[in-house]
Amino acid sequence: MRPEKDSVPTTDNRLRTTDYGLRTTSSTDLLRSVPDLPDHEARRLLETATGRSWTDLLLGVEVAAEEIEVFRALVERRRSGEPLQYIEGSVPFGPIEVAVDPRVLVPRPETEQLYEIAEAVVEDPLVIVDLCTGSGNLAIALKHRFPTATVYATDISSDAVDLARENARDAGLDVTILLGDLFEPLPGNLRGRVDLIVSNPPYLAAAEVADLPVDVRDHEPTMALVAGPVGDEVLARIAEAAPDWLRPGGVVVCEISEFHGSVVAGHFASLRGDIQRDLSGKERFVIGAAPQ
Ligand code: GLN
Repeated sequence: MRPEKDSVPTTDNRLRTTDYGLRTTSSTDLLRSVPDLPDHEARRLLETATGRSWTDLLLGVEVAAEEIEVFRALVERRRSGEPLQYIEGSVPFGPIEVAVDPRVLVPRPETEQLYEIAEAVVEDPLVIVDLCTGSGNLAIALKHRFPTATVYATDISSDAVDLARENARDAGLDVTILLGDLFEPLPGNLRGRVDLIVSNPPYLAAAEVADLPVDVRDHEPTMALVAGPVGDEVLARIAEAAPDWLRPGGVVVCEISEFHGSVVAGHFASLRGDIQRDLSGKERFVIGAAPQ
């Protein structure tokens, strides 16, 4: 059976290519059937449901009834506020792709900028440490960029450590991922030897959670977001401990709250903490260096 042009597809038939040359209306009809979702989101959900690229879908490949069922189920998950990246299951990050699920924060574009700053700031680092690694995104991307470096990552969440280890293994990259609080699980003989410390630590104040979008508030791990009553608590602890671990001239780069620039610069004063802005002009990173 061939559905009428522009009809909303039902789940009990197969949508077929139209007679209008290469272009099929089946995929576009499916998008039109979910007007409450932004087009680009609906497209990505259809790509996930069918395992095909949007280009292939537009080229007139049939969308099977079972795939439409899957699409509908994904749409319902998105409507309930689940982040698109959890539904898709992975996210590109710098030179790599990492799996993400509710055990970890979805890596953000700001954090890709942190990666870019970090990879440019030290030449040929031998030892790299990523604190609060989450999905492992920063540590694995840096190991990809600097294959000869020894890369350590830590996280206080055993769920995150499990996923970060899977991501490193899937990327075929050797990153040592340790369970524990900030520097605590690192081998003691790294003290004074680390060339580069990176971190996107929790930096929200507890009271800020109520104002977060539902995707973040109800779906992403709160412990990856909230540092304490003020928000700068974890950064203050990183600033205090980093001088012990950095080699002379070693660099630390962290993501920070746009509201904490001056207070965080103060925490990093002994490392001459400098604040940098993100692409939208917000104070978003602190960079410090141990004296030579
Ligand atoms: N390193 C991860 C990220 O940047 C997780 C950060 C976190 O859990 N605070 O996305």
